[in-house]
Amino acid sequence: MPKQTYPLIASLVLGLLCCCNSVAAAQPLKVMVMIEPQRFFLEQIGGKHVAVTVLVPPGADPHTYEPKPQTMVQISQARLYVSMGIPEEQAWLPRLLAIRPDLRMVRQDQNIAKLPMKSREEIYGHHDQPLVPKTQAQSPQPADNTSELPKHVQEEAHTHHHEALSVDPHIWLSPRLVRIQAETIARALTEVDAEHAADYQQGLSSFLKQIDELDQQLSSLFPPSLEHRSFLVVHPSWGYFARDYGLQQIPMEIEGREPTAADLANLIRVTTKERIRVILEEPQFPKRFAEMMASQAGIQVIEANPLAYDWVGNLRKVGSQLAEQLSRAQ
Ligand code: ZN
Repeated sequence: MPKQTYPLIASLVLGLLCCCNSVAAAQPLKVMVMIEPQRFFLEQIGGKHVAVTVLVPPGADPHTYEPKPQTMVQISQARLYVSMGIPEEQAWLPRLLAIRPDLRMVRQDQNIAKLPMKSREEIYGHHDQPLVPKTQAQSPQPADNTSELPKHVQEEAHTHHHEALSVDPHIWLSPRLVRIQAETIARALTEVDAEHAADYQQGLSSFLKQIDELDQQLSSLFPPSLEHRSFLVVHPSWGYFARDYGLQQIPMEIEGREPTAADLANLIRVTTKERIRVILEEPQFPKRFAEMMASQAGIQVIEANPLAYDWVGNLRKVGSQLAEQLSRAQ
């Protein structure tokens, strides 16, 4: 081989390497999440640097979701898994992590103190008092104030396994808690893909700005002067949202079960007494409960999907429909 061809080959090889490297660098980071709103969060923060796959298909219920073996294979192509931290997810997640010990996993619910789900007694027990005391309505509790929660809840908020089913997992429906979750996500992206740290930081700031705007809009929809602050829900998804804006959700589904005949009688009593005029129903749960309350207690049904992708638009829409109905109550 003539001597002068060496540099040519070398440059060809280098050229190929460079080419491969730039392709590799342009490949977005594969991230796996459980529900659609998480994809929205990831895409706000990660932009073009992330390719997000959602595990729970549209219309499915994340509480009963379990990935099929094929899905486990799909998951195995991801580099980062952002866990929602819901108890049912913890049932299969260890199996996934066993297949992929190198998969980075981050808990989106870290640094968040979760609320206990209300028991039947708490829901129907003492309705001689107004459901939301005025002071609470005007100054919602700070999101991460663990010290004011009962001891067992504080512990559960920091436990990483076997969370009690009685802890409310719906933290993604609170703008104030999503602020904390956004910081967690940005941190995880930066750790896995440090090269784009500046972009993730920028994505985070602009998402935090969107959250603050949404939070302000929602706060002004539910001013302290709003008298009626209670609404029915089929499934208790809106507890943290309600806490942020001094509202009160009254669930039809209690302790993870459909209402009994006695529950329904209680619901109608409470609805009449509190002059509740609106129920939030979810596409993931049967329509018949909301329809029954609408026909028997004469209340309005709002479809409120807690798993919609466009998280900002969805909370704005649900918030304004809810505020409209609450302000009409006499
Ligand atoms: Zn739920």
